[in-house]
Amino acid sequence: MRRIQNFINGAMVDPVGGDWLDGVDPATGQVYCGVPASDERDVNNAVAAAEAAFPAWSKMPAEKRSRILLRLADLIERDLDSLARAECVDNGKPLSRCLTVDIPRAVENFRFFATAILHTRSDLHVTGDVALNYTLRQPRGVAGLISPWNLPLYLFTWKVAPAIATGNTAVAKPSEVTPMTAYLLGALCQEAGLPAGVLNIIHGDGPRAGAAIVGHDRIRTISFTGSTRAGAEIAATAAPRFKKLSLELGGKNPTVVFADADFEAALAGAVQASFANQGQICLCGSRLLVERAIYDRFVDGFVARAKALRVGDPLEPATEQGAVVSAAHLDKILSYLRLAREEGGEVLCGGDRAAAPNERCRDGFFVQPTVIAGLGPDCRVNQEEIFGPVVTIAPFSAEADAITMANNSDYGLSASVWTRDLERAHRVGAALEAGTVWVNCWLLRDLRVPFGGMKSSGVGREGGDEALRFFTEPKNVCVRTR
Ligand code: NAD
Repeated sequence: MRRIQNFINGAMVDPVGGDWLDGVDPATGQVYCGVPASDERDVNNAVAAAEAAFPAWSKMPAEKRSRILLRLADLIERDLDSLARAECVDNGKPLSRCLTVDIPRAVENFRFFATAILHTRSDLHVTGDVALNYTLRQPRGVAGLISPWNLPLYLFTWKVAPAIATGNTAVAKPSEVTPMTAYLLGALCQEAGLPAGVLNIIHGDGPRAGAAIVGHDRIRTISFTGSTRAGAEIAATAAPRFKKLSLELGGKNPTVVFADADFEAALAGAVQASFANQGQICLCGSRLLVERAIYDRFVDGFVARAKALRVGDPLEPATEQGAVVSAAHLDKILSYLRLAREEGGEVLCGGDRAAAPNERCRDGFFVQPTVIAGLGPDCRVNQEEIFGPVVTIAPFSAEADAITMANNSDYGLSASVWTRDLERAHRVGAALEAGTVWVNCWLLRDLRVPFGGMKSSGVGREGGDEALRFFTEPKNVCVRTR
């Protein structure tokens, strides 16, 4: 069986402790690779390599750093097929999605930040005729980057690209559940000519490898994407050490459909928002709120479309819903389906494990796309993140009710609103407590815009200028002129 390795100081190495975790293919339920169970010794080695690489990398002209990262982007694009297959096996999502969304976005992440660093500007403040103040933006040193399993290479590179483009070096950890594409990225870094130690990739679980990164004295910048639970632990470690922190956490996002919306577009958009990636995108709409005047018709159409989604072998081109990521995650989703019934929910479709699509996948982790009605806004199913193909649906009577219901959540990551009323679109967009509000669309991304959540969905923003600012330290130089 293949054993993947850590990538430290430009070389592939086994974990110091010689311990390995099982890497499982969610579509088959079978162990298919060994994952280093790294601990603080591996993290120490990675930090030492990153510190040694920092002086030269941070002083390298931006044009040269940019060329290396563009080369890396080209290599990811060259290996699109093999990376997409690796991600499909790692994660259980449809291969078609890996080929068209996840891996191409990793390419875009590197291209975006490799070129963004060529177009930065500096601030200068003239203090009368007494002084000039100018602000240098300097890389902060070794960044700790920790990412989740749901969009493995896409979210990993969303952190790696801005961190190293701006001249930092990094110790990065992908999820232990989906390590393969990050492992393959290490080999591409070697081929692209990324200097040794600039990017170090450590594999392992949160309590050992992740905590060792967060707690390391020499790592003073931490960018984390994952659950709100882990985010709280990380914040507790980082706060007394005054580390700079970006936390991108969970969501319980509303999809709000007004009666004046383009019905068919809203229906298609709501299905996509609810079930894309088996509902395992932090931005998925898991609470669907529909204006009463169209509620019955919308429910009928939505349930019909949810039932029609093809749950299948992720390797099959026609598959629309693959496997959920792990046995533990399957159990979590099924426990929420039981809870929904206990809380009085009416399961309109789905509600259980899906049958294996073929013999190869007989032990895989498949869930039926599920729609649940009849649950109050305060029940646990409407308050807690399930992170699976499960959506609740409820009617509302007026715009003010829709806003109240949508905002009735500890989370505040994203929302989507469907209406043809221009004034309402702006009004509701401003009133919703969410880092991103999409109007008549969902997950339409522009890498320049600030991205992140409010409330328990996190602190800080990523994307564009926000990421360039996060990974650099503003230093003011005040020069007296008379
Ligand atoms: P998770 O929190 O279990 O793990 C995320 C990463 O953190 C993994 O690499 C894990 O090993 C590591 N980790 C876990 N505990 C840690 C600790 N105490 N210290 C350091 N590292 C630790 O999350 P997950 O299950 O991998 O991902 C799903 C979650 O991520 C969902 O809640 C989802 O909403 C969220 N998410 C958020 C965004 C966003 O942009 N806001 C994007 C994607 C996913």
